Amino acid sequence: AVLLAGALAGCSSRNSDSGSGAEDTVIQKGDTVGVILPTKTSENVANFETYWNEALAEAGFKADIHYAANSNPVPDQQSALQGMITKGIKVIAIAAQDSAQMGAQLKQAKDAGVTIIAWDRLLLNTQDVDYYVSFNNFVVGEQQAQSLLEGLKSKKQEGPWNIELFAGGATDNNATVFFNGAMSVLQPLIDSGELVVLSGQTSFQQVNTEGWLAQKAQQRMANLITSTYESGTELDGVLSPNDTLARAIITALQQGGLSGQIVTGQDGDVASVPLILDGTQYSTVYKDNRQEAIEAVKVISALAAGEDPVAVTDDPDNSDNGVKVVPAVLVTSTLVTAKNAAEAFKDNPSLSKAVAEATE
Ligand code: BGC
Repeated sequence: AVLLAGALAGCSSRNSDSGSGAEDTVIQKGDTVGVILPTKTSENVANFETYWNEALAEAGFKADIHYAANSNPVPDQQSALQGMITKGIKVIAIAAQDSAQMGAQLKQAKDAGVTIIAWDRLLLNTQDVDYYVSFNNFVVGEQQAQSLLEGLKSKKQEGPWNIELFAGGATDNNATVFFNGAMSVLQPLIDSGELVVLSGQTSFQQVNTEGWLAQKAQQRMANLITSTYESGTELDGVLSPNDTLARAIITALQQGGLSGQIVTGQDGDVASVPLILDGTQYSTVYKDNRQEAIEAVKVISALAAGEDPVAVTDDPDNSDNGVKVVPAVLVTSTLVTAKNAAEAFKDNPSLSKAVAEATE
């Protein structure tokens, strides 16, 4: 399901407000599409390549896919983009390692008549991006917070509940949007004293996880236990921004001798399915990244047909990049707990297999 809110406001002619060059884009079926992806720090990101290959092949395009190198990923993505421009690729999708550091290369792309799709992660502070295809990431954060509250209430009817907060990597715009969405639900309850963050660490600055790296989250959780929860003070729940970090946080909790915490997640990692089914991880927000690739390829197919991409809407809440509101296609995410996992994952072969194995 895709948000179809609004008509094609602001998109009456394709690439209308993208400045120089994009209207020259000529892509045809059979051409190569460039896809630049971030480092594989989470299970879903490692699968992105497969989804793109399938979606592009299905629509009759060739694929040139590049993952960021683990060391110096930002310059690596910058040179990958330059390389694709030089090869003459006319449409390039980018999930940036650093949402704000691609500006110079995007300008080069625009000057060469390339259409740019910010995929999964918005590109910030640049005019030189034509479309944004992702999820409603503010809602993803709200869903995480709602499930945290639901879990806390199932654990202990009355508050106050002690929680700790984690966010993703600061250079990824998504991390801020997820956290803002979650805090829109949690902050009023922190202010009223119903939720207590005993460490006092509540700002994005304090709770972000460098590079979305699991070992960084595990280390921070271990430090929090030592500083705040070792004397037997109860910790009721942890806001985790994705499944990979949830598993790292759970490992730290177990190593610190704590159990029974309500821990949130995101993505729908196969590795988290058994943990969700037995309640060790309370929830995930499932994002069907296969559909996310298909939606981007629909935009590209429309461009190849000389049509305005459909289902593209201006959404300031999600796609204001600082200098423009980028026309966006936003796929719907699903909140999943042990209760609805089988149903929510039924159309995804590897997830439903994981459900079947865990419930054997
Ligand atoms: C993606 C998440 C992913 C995270 C870490 C985010 O930008 O939207 O799905 O878990 O990056 O790779």
